[in-house]
Amino acid sequence: MATSETSETHQVVFVGGGAGGLSVASALLQQRPDLDIAVIEPSESHYYQPAWTLVGGGAYDIKATQRAEADCMPRQARWIKQRVTGFEPEQNTITLENGRTVGYEYLVVAAGIQLDWHKIEGLEDTLGKNGVTSNYSFDFAPYTWECIRNFRGGRAVFTQPAPPFKCAGAPQKILYLAADYFRRHGISAEMHFCTAGAAMFGVPFYSKALEKVIEQYGATPDYKHNLVAVDGPNKKATFAVGDEKETTTLDFDMLHVVPPQSAPDFIKNSPLANDAGWVAVDAGTLRHEQYANVFGLGDCTATPNSKTAAAVRIQAPVVVANLLAVMDGNTPPQTYDGYASCPLTTSNGKVLMAEFVYGGKVAPNFPLDPRVPRRSYWWMKTTFLPKMYWDMVQGRPGPDWHVEREFPEELPAIQP
Ligand code: FAD
Repeated sequence: MATSETSETHQVVFVGGGAGGLSVASALLQQRPDLDIAVIEPSESHYYQPAWTLVGGGAYDIKATQRAEADCMPRQARWIKQRVTGFEPEQNTITLENGRTVGYEYLVVAAGIQLDWHKIEGLEDTLGKNGVTSNYSFDFAPYTWECIRNFRGGRAVFTQPAPPFKCAGAPQKILYLAADYFRRHGISAEMHFCTAGAAMFGVPFYSKALEKVIEQYGATPDYKHNLVAVDGPNKKATFAVGDEKETTTLDFDMLHVVPPQSAPDFIKNSPLANDAGWVAVDAGTLRHEQYANVFGLGDCTATPNSKTAAAVRIQAPVVVANLLAVMDGNTPPQTYDGYASCPLTTSNGKVLMAEFVYGGKVAPNFPLDPRVPRRSYWWMKTTFLPKMYWDMVQGRPGPDWHVEREFPEELPAIQP
């Protein structure tokens, strides 16, 4: 129960009004319009982040990725325009930045992931100038396209941090869009994909196909290269290599950075977190392992899926069904299978649609070999998926046909 200092109390409180928070809040209110729901969200804007890759590649208007949060918020929900700073799950309260507390009967945590720009020395001083850019920000994604358009030859470097980070494919998607642009315009580029990882992708089935894609562009994958410092004015990027005791420095003419990411600090330091700082929910039911009236979804949870809006689309109905069941005194009936999808833009015009569930099992929506980059999937990425996202945050997650499917081990013909 909430303490006497609690400023207000609601039946269901959401922390975060992004993809996960609004998808669940809207769907809950459709099923039970009388629910007393509050969404705590500090931002005036809601962003369709998956299109920032396309913005960086010159294939999408940045303005179309932003909507007023007020227009996305379900009408019956109370919007508390504040930042959460702490959780007191034993008291069923949350603390806000303004010092007030909010009480709840049920809590849904969907606060996203934290971008740790500061962990790369020199990055914040040079981001947005000197050819240093990142699609991981509304402010800088348009600058990526400026860098690509103005590139007159030389070395282009694309980085990927150690996991976890949102959208497992985004660091290399922009490499392919840039490489395609350079190829079409006859610009000679030495391209490097410097990844902290040891493979092109976490799921071997797709990784082998992506090795072919990068090879066809003549770009070099530099494995176990973790960006640690950027000197913008002198155009130098420094990487910790291998066991991180050695470093190497690369000159660049253009540098696309994906920042290291972690659980938001206010979650890391709370009783809701596991040892690594993520909201400790069960990987199937998405219910908190210790606090039975708490659920979580999206990028801030400990579930071992790829952190994507596609995952949120499958998680949201599970949270809705399980939360309503728990409210009615029943056990959670639904289980999330770890589905995530990553539309890899292998060129301006084609997408390789990587879809998988827990354990790296291949689970596409359609019975077509998903390692083949297709024009139909480019159409989906640029047209259908944005519409599906905006519908999802209004409580309409759309169709889902994903299922585990078998494909021959031998690679199909891959033409990015
Ligand atoms: P978010 O949508 O980020 O929402 C979190 C919300 O919590 C935000 O509104 C934030 O303001 C709020 N919040 C933060 N701190 C607090 C606080 N202290 N108190 C209250 N509220 C707070 N996904 C795909 O499916 N396909 C893709 O192709 C794809 N590409 C991507 C490309 C890029 C460049 C990026 C950046 C992301 C991409 N994603 C993609 C990932 C996708 O956008 C995220 O996985 C998804 O938005 C996660 O939803 P979420 O609700 O967990 O977090």
